[in-house]
Amino acid sequence: MARIEMKNPIVEMDGDEMTRVLWQWIKEDLLSPYVDLKTEYYDLGLVHRDETDDQVTIEAAKANKKYKVGVKCATITPNAQRVEEYNLKQMWKSPNGTIRRILDGTVFRAPILAQGITPYVPGWKKPIVLARHAYGDVYAGVEARVEAGNRAYLQVEDAAGNVVEKRLVHDFAGGGGIVQSMHNLDMSIVSFARSCFNYALDVKMPLWFATKDTISKTYDHHFKDIFAEIYESEYKQRFAEAGIEYMYTLIDDAVARVVRSEGGIVWACKNYDGDVMSDMVATAYGSLGLMTSVLVSPDGNYEYEAAHGTVTRHYYKHRKGEETSTNSVATIFAWTGALAKRGELDGTPALTEFAKKLERATVRTIEEGEMTGDLIALFHADGIVPKKLESRAFLKAIASRME
Ligand code: NAP
Ligand code: MG
Repeated sequence: MARIEMKNPIVEMDGDEMTRVLWQWIKEDLLSPYVDLKTEYYDLGLVHRDETDDQVTIEAAKANKKYKVGVKCATITPNAQRVEEYNLKQMWKSPNGTIRRILDGTVFRAPILAQGITPYVPGWKKPIVLARHAYGDVYAGVEARVEAGNRAYLQVEDAAGNVVEKRLVHDFAGGGGIVQSMHNLDMSIVSFARSCFNYALDVKMPLWFATKDTISKTYDHHFKDIFAEIYESEYKQRFAEAGIEYMYTLIDDAVARVVRSEGGIVWACKNYDGDVMSDMVATAYGSLGLMTSVLVSPDGNYEYEAAHGTVTRHYYKHRKGEETSTNSVATIFAWTGALAKRGELDGTPALTEFAKKLERATVRTIEEGEMTGDLIALFHADGIVPKKLESRAFLKAIASRME
């Protein structure tokens, strides 16, 4: 059978542990037989990151900017224990953080739905895509412990060092405490807003954005204003044409509405809300193995990955020669997302069609009762007793549906 040709490469970022094992098998069993894969390969496995003093991560992110489309395997973010385990030169930063800083994007997390896998919120019939702003707020916060009797201020200076504004945060005369400050940038909020409006148009789903602007009258309100201005001036018409809406509401109201909804929404959240809500939404849909993630930058770069990590516990089993039943669906969808986007950008519809076909074969495998262990307890379909497959057997079961 003739394999599908690719015009331009996608950036392939390999990773660690069990997902690195799955990565190779997915290519062998599901991609290479059908596509003449053209990738620019970067090994982001921890060993190679350490060897290159993490330069490989920076080069991969730059390549993603050059070729527009990348696909990334899960990687270890080192902590003290990993520094020892891998004898690292230093505790390298999170590769995802590095890539996000270079691409400056918004992360969209979308669940993969399959019949038989009922979300914990049974009313959710369609995907809820969570868009998390990935800059600033508490993640770039400055904090201090304040001793009793001291005062804490928020102070703004001009470039010459003159005080422009100084406001008392709290007088700790009555006892010690803590203080925290955080910031954000107009530019970053603007690109967050544009990424969200673009993504909603792409998938033709309504966009909801929520903050706590009633309490945070300057900070959160500024997010609300920027979204409103950009919507009015750049997107209102296009949303109307696409038959979708933009809605702003308070974050607590949004939570209530989302739970009562049937899904089919892009939900934009500030950094912290997005951190918390994305795990809530992912868990409620069933398994982390069914959650995909794509980083979209305002200038049109896409980096696809699974939302889960390297599944360390399974990898240690695999290394001892034991069989695992690790869910590869989100990693498969990272590849299909990248290949479909490559086909769309290059004008090679055969590539996009292949990606969609592989996605259907993957979902159909589960719907017909063949799945990995994490899904067994979640699966309920009349007349089908779910069968637990080992990691590679699951890939073969998908491959058998590609013929
Ligand atoms: P994890 O790898 O997502 O795994 C946590 C647990 O969730 C697993 O032990 C497993 O539960 C279950 N799970 C996750 N993905 C699964 C899958 N595909 N199939 C079946 N079960 C799955 O998170 P972690 O243990 O917190 O982190 C492990 C490493 O991944 C860390 O070094 C971390 O730095 C890294 N990480 C990387 C990324 C990324 O690259 N984007 C994201 C998160 C974490 P059971 O053990 O109960 O089967
Ligand atoms: Mg989180």
